[in-house]
Amino acid sequence: MLVLKFGGTSVGKPERMKKIADLVLATPGQKVVVLSALSGTTNALVAIGDHLMAGSQNLAEKEIATLEKHYDSFIKGLYSSEAFLAIGQETVSRFFIFMRLLATGQFDVKSYRELLAQGELISTELFYQHLQEQKVNSRLLPALHFMSIDENEEPELEKIEQRLKPLLASLKNVDVIITQGYICRNHRNEIDNLKRGGSDYTASLIGAAIRAEEIQIWTDIDGMHNNDPRIVKKTFPISELTFDEASELAYFGAKILHPSTIVPAQKYNVPVRLKNTMDEKAEGTIISNKGIEGTFKAVAAKDNITVINIKSSRMLMAYGFLRRVFEVFEQHKTPIDMISTSEVAVSLTIDGIDNLDSIITELKKFGTIEVEKNQTIICVVGHNIGKQKGILEKVFHALASVPVRMVSCGGSNNNISIVIEPAFKERALISLNENLFGIR
Ligand code: ADP
Ligand code: ASP
Ligand code: MG
Repeated sequence: MLVLKFGGTSVGKPERMKKIADLVLATPGQKVVVLSALSGTTNALVAIGDHLMAGSQNLAEKEIATLEKHYDSFIKGLYSSEAFLAIGQETVSRFFIFMRLLATGQFDVKSYRELLAQGELISTELFYQHLQEQKVNSRLLPALHFMSIDENEEPELEKIEQRLKPLLASLKNVDVIITQGYICRNHRNEIDNLKRGGSDYTASLIGAAIRAEEIQIWTDIDGMHNNDPRIVKKTFPISELTFDEASELAYFGAKILHPSTIVPAQKYNVPVRLKNTMDEKAEGTIISNKGIEGTFKAVAAKDNITVINIKSSRMLMAYGFLRRVFEVFEQHKTPIDMISTSEVAVSLTIDGIDNLDSIITELKKFGTIEVEKNQTIICVVGHNIGKQKGILEKVFHALASVPVRMVSCGGSNNNISIVIEPAFKERALISLNENLFGIR
């Protein structure tokens, strides 16, 4: 079985949605199709939710009306028969009645999450009806029936597998099984989500749970590029990556994949293929356990990083110090991304700052604390580059004119991470492109 995931831009226009229907049908065998919301919808839902949280009912209603118009015209381009257009209209109006109901009620975090889920719920329903119109043997399988996260917001892969098995067994004769990306239930059984960009993660969780033959992530670019195409002009697609390389790139800012996408796939050794909906003939990227040694593969950047410095003379020759530091982060459920230490100081970086104040209060017991917010991590990735001679020299040569704040290398053989000021990010990425990949 294959898992095929289509992102927002791949379903963002009626002709694109029709195109992916053709793509799905041209793919042999039974498949699970994971869809995102139409492009722009989740952003609009976030804006509506923010207005409602702030008590700006009028602004929220305006946004809802604009979004509804968008869907009204979308379905006109999607269905060819009057009968299916009527079904589409009924669907859209049902969704918008529900959204307005959410908006007029007591609006809290729970209703906010329910509102965010509407994007994927509506896109899958519209796609399903399109396949029905084309007389395709398809079925809608609600993600809220099997996708769940625990109290630490971690997906429950085993439970997902146990729930999916009987559901899929009952759909053995169905060619195309459609489900929602991004949305799930939390440990209180409420509607929740896998964070922005989470549809990739859904696809990988399903692929791992059913031990799929392959997970295909279809998007608007021809695979993972060697550098961030939003910032650097000349980038190129990479044909092969190892799970570790792709994982580090996704985690350290390559937006093409949700940061956790690779984890479930890697666990069960299910290859992940990145493909371009706009250019299906393009080779794309295959991510698997096969690696090519010793070459720079790609560079990525992650913004809004917070650096914390802990200076303490008590650390000198002491054991157990780092454990106590790490415990503070563990208690506050805050993952550490990078770390570097000397005899009397530890520098580390975190991504989420929800608990920063209480973390700092706790850390102050150990010594002097300095915090620098809004920093950028540049991450250079390549299979086993950590074991090669002259690698650091090349990276530092490329960054000669960029002040480097912190370096981490050797923790993983596949990655060299460098913290810089965000103002130098563009220069750093362009210079790494020129020096490591010879592109000018
Ligand atoms: P989707 O809506 O299909 O999930 P995304 O916008 O989330 O698509 O991801 C695709 C985008 O990721 C590309 O359009 C590209 O701008 C961006 N991107 C950032 N870094 C990379 C990279 N290294 N390789 C490819 N795409 C990247
Ligand atoms: N629709 C969600 C988002 O925009 C999930 C996704 O697209 O992957 O973040
Ligand atoms: Mg995405």
